[in-house]
Amino acid sequence: MTDVDAVVVGSGPNGLAAAVTLARAGLRVQVLEAQSTIGGGCRTLELGLASGIRHDICSAVHPMALASPYFRDFDLPARGVEFINPDMAFAQPFDGRPAAIAYRDIARTATELDSPGWRRIFRPIVNHIDAAVEFAQGTQRALPKPGALPLILGVAAFARSRGEALLGADGAALLGSVSAHAIGIYPSLATGGVGTLLTSLAHAIGWPIPVGGSQAITDALVADLLAHGGSIETDCAIDTFEQLPSARSYLFNTTPRAAAHILGNRIPGGAARGLKRFPYAAGAAAKVDFVVREPIPWTDRRISNAGTVHLSGTARALQEAERANGSGRHAQHPFVLLSESGWHDPTRARDGLMPVWTYTHVPAGSTQDVTETVIAQIERFAPGFRDIIVASQCVPAAEMHLHNANYIGGDIGTGSASGYRLFARPRPTIDPYRLGAPGYYLCSAAAPPASGVHGMVGHHAARRALRHEFGISEPPDLSPEPIKTAS
Ligand SMILES: Cc1cc2nc3c(=O)[nH]c(=O)nc-3n(C[C@H](O)[C@H](O)[C@H](O)COP(=O)(O)OP(=O)(O)OC[C@H]3O[C@@H](n4cnc5c(N)ncnc54)[C@H](O)[C@@H]3O)c2cc1C
Repeated sequence: MTDVDAVVVGSGPNGLAAAVTLARAGLRVQVLEAQSTIGGGCRTLELGLASGIRHDICSAVHPMALASPYFRDFDLPARGVEFINPDMAFAQPFDGRPAAIAYRDIARTATELDSPGWRRIFRPIVNHIDAAVEFAQGTQRALPKPGALPLILGVAAFARSRGEALLGADGAALLGSVSAHAIGIYPSLATGGVGTLLTSLAHAIGWPIPVGGSQAITDALVADLLAHGGSIETDCAIDTFEQLPSARSYLFNTTPRAAAHILGNRIPGGAARGLKRFPYAAGAAAKVDFVVREPIPWTDRRISNAGTVHLSGTARALQEAERANGSGRHAQHPFVLLSESGWHDPTRARDGLMPVWTYTHVPAGSTQDVTETVIAQIERFAPGFRDIIVASQCVPAAEMHLHNANYIGGDIGTGSASGYRLFARPRPTIDPYRLGAPGYYLCSAAAPPASGVHGMVGHHAARRALRHEFGISEPPDLSPEPIKTAS
């Protein structure tokens, strides 16, 4: 007799997506979470910097929450999750001249950049965005449909080049910063893939920000799981298999190493070695959250309208900074990502105070408090920023694992995203979700399609568990229940 049908270790977006898929198929599901709060990289918390101000401690901006096949079916807007979707998706200031801007409108973007190449590259991808997303969010084990060809050509174009010849200097800088979201070697296959897809999504659906913060996405997943009989236990760090309730299937929303450690000799030695060999990324992230009393005084005032701001300067400067981090040296002017959450979403402001979300790239395992570095990089493009800061908090890369055991040394991608590891994550095997023995599955960003709040790793893993352990091959309906009206 089993306690439950399936146990999910970890409550990140992929863990919850897996749990929802399993519960909707009629299984009894239990989620066990190490932290005292639910959501992993998709949480919004008060940090004690200013009363009532809540901060996105990891993710903040969510193109995939509207675009991923999982979330399209789950339908967050129909469940009451509201999104702010700025016309200006992202912007990139430069020293002493106007910023480069990616609008949702592709023609306006290309015209302002004076970049016919921008339109030539991104228009065909946007015209086939469903096929592009389906390919990019798949298991990386299937051949792409013909509609994904423009995406593949775009990725090929930027896999080895910063793109100045195709896009012009400002266009290349704008794309480069998006590419560098996949912390790693830039330019490369992995960064080219992320940059091309996320930029296309900016034009196809925008880069939306959930009203109230990322937690709104987590709360919607939790509500659905509980409504379908699932349960969640917090403050429950799993280190040994003996801590787990008895079940027919176990899904790990953890690092591959943690899964191998917990499973011990329940999986074959070869599989365990493969999981333990999956490397952490060489580059990492450190987080700095601010509370400010005024909007940021950008030199180029238009930037206030951008949902996300990339502070990296030219494409060449970005390349040098990323190279430094990758080889273990702190860059002098590191890449900083910023969103003025409280300015875009008035529900986040209190008594005139607002949160500002930032993080920056650093070498793996960095112990440095990067607050001053981040302030300096913002001041460069917004002199006077320092004067509007009310409070701030830095989580150095080396401490990221304290609030999420998957981010060892600040590796926010849960493992290397090199070109090879995009297709061989977490180990070179036909089914990346199976952990080498029946009943055990990996459902974290360490498996394809890797990092981001899209729910797709959880969904792919849960579908395999349903098929192999429970004989259910038809995926469950994920759509919201129809709202019952009184007759
Ligand atoms: C600073 C930062 C900014 C980001 N910005 C964005 C963004 O704007 N947009 C975006 O789409 N993505 C962003 N991301 C990436 C995104 O947050 C992650 O890719 C995503 O959360 C991964 O989801 P996951 O479910 O695989 O795992 P996670 O969200 O990492 O969750 C894993 C969960 O498992 C739990 N866990 C681990 N080990 C154990 C154990 N042994 N026992 C019990 N529980 C365990 C952890 O506590 C955690 O809750 C960002 C990440 C960071 C850190």
